[in-house]
Amino acid sequence: MLATLREFAHQFVHTPQLHCIGGNFVPSRSGAVQEVFDPSTGAVLTSVAMGSDHEVNLAVAAAQASFPAWSRTPPVERAVILHRVADALERHKDDLVQVESLDVGKAITATEGFDIPFGIACLRYFADLVQNLVIDVPHALPNIEARTHRIPYGVCGFIFPWNFPYDLLLWNVVPALAAGNTVVIKPSELTPLSTLLVTRLAHEAGLPDGVMNVVVGDGAAGQALAMHPGIKRMSFTGSPKVGKLIGEICGRNLVPLKLELGGKGAAVVFDDVDMDTTAAKLANAITFNTGQVCCTATRWILHEEIHDSLLQKAIAILNSTRIGPALDRETQMGPLVSETHHKRVSNHLELGKAEGAEVIFEAHAVKPDGFERGYYIGPSLLTGDPDNICCREEIFGPSAYVLKFRDEDEAVKLVNRLPYGLANSVWSSDLDRAGRVAEQLIAGNSWVNAHNVFAYGLPYRAVNLSGMGGGVNSPDCLLDYLRPQTIARPLA
Ligand code: NAD
Repeated sequence: MLATLREFAHQFVHTPQLHCIGGNFVPSRSGAVQEVFDPSTGAVLTSVAMGSDHEVNLAVAAAQASFPAWSRTPPVERAVILHRVADALERHKDDLVQVESLDVGKAITATEGFDIPFGIACLRYFADLVQNLVIDVPHALPNIEARTHRIPYGVCGFIFPWNFPYDLLLWNVVPALAAGNTVVIKPSELTPLSTLLVTRLAHEAGLPDGVMNVVVGDGAAGQALAMHPGIKRMSFTGSPKVGKLIGEICGRNLVPLKLELGGKGAAVVFDDVDMDTTAAKLANAITFNTGQVCCTATRWILHEEIHDSLLQKAIAILNSTRIGPALDRETQMGPLVSETHHKRVSNHLELGKAEGAEVIFEAHAVKPDGFERGYYIGPSLLTGDPDNICCREEIFGPSAYVLKFRDEDEAVKLVNRLPYGLANSVWSSDLDRAGRVAEQLIAGNSWVNAHNVFAYGLPYRAVNLSGMGGGVNSPDCLLDYLRPQTIARPLA
């Protein structure tokens, strides 16, 4: 049953959207716009202004102008404003749920249960954390009076992908704001709506003009932002390919950078697990957000003793997964984000099959009546050579590659043979073994008897091809946005 669009959400998703620069919502000087599509229907929702270096220059100037006052605002007052922003998002949570679900094609029950409340909690977490921040740490040294003092960097730049636009925005931008920086954000041109709605609500809740600026645009606008000499710290979330380009730019300009990139997460399942729970959680790992999740379990590495029976259970669950439009409350898996991405995922799977991958299971999405032009795809499980392209590279769709193992060493080698390093999981009722294996898997995150574990206070970070420069969701992330400065006076 389709949720009825609330009046506010209906109006918002059908209104042409503009950049937010210095607290004003403005069009591009060039007049350039791009259509925003509803992935569930393939229909145009609205249009969005497409910016270029001109809008980036204006946004950085606005952020520079607002930096002195915002950085001098006492942390407790910044915390009050962040709580007011959280209150505003809370009041509009049902609108945010609908806007994000429509724009990205996310199953509404997931957006409601996870994305929107978790993002609001991020504002409250960093608001509370910053009030107790120790800004000066003394150094106990002979004959020198010294301290490390922490100050915000200035204007920070952020570039985001399209798969979790609302949560990624808050996870990354809120600590920077709490620390006293001002920001310029370039959301994905495919899913800009929740970013613009959050920015609008943040201003209404009292965030001063120019502290949070948004320029929508494509890769050229992102590049202009990363290259801008006014940017003092950069953060990029997206593909390793573009991440490397941003790394080159920041390296040339010596701008500190955080990269949160793609992954090819593995789940190592031993033969002593609870089969029903494990099968359900693994099936959910590939259908959650239609598999468009950087850290999810897309390689299932199963002990040979339980391989067949676990797959049987997982296939039964995948087979009964309800695929449908985002706003249908019975939908468990929505469409992919765009027609282009649908082609990319389908081609990737075809390439894998052409390289010899064997299909264990493949569901063909039956498009619901009235939604024939939506970008739906069924879940699939492949197997074969671990060098197959579907086992080697991120597909970013509802598909997993299945491999068998006999002992711990073999499982660890299978996981660690790829250059990614985002997240893996180990499944076993022997917690000593699970912990031992978890330590050996090369990644920023090793989860036990679960995949995709998120909480504030639990650092989420990456290594190798999956990223560098810190992570999100922890106190470290707040410190990332405060540069240390040594202040020292010889006493003798
Ligand atoms: P993408 O790299 O194509 O695009 C990401 C952003 O970069 C977009 O805003 C895009 O407009 C911009 N961009 C593109 N070319 C650019 C250029 N040359 N210079 C500057 N900016 C440019 O990624 P995507 O397709 O939007 O997102 C999917 C990728 O994001 C996947 O690899 C996924 O794993 C990754 N991701 C990682 C995390 C994480 O936390 N590690 C979270 C979500 C998504």
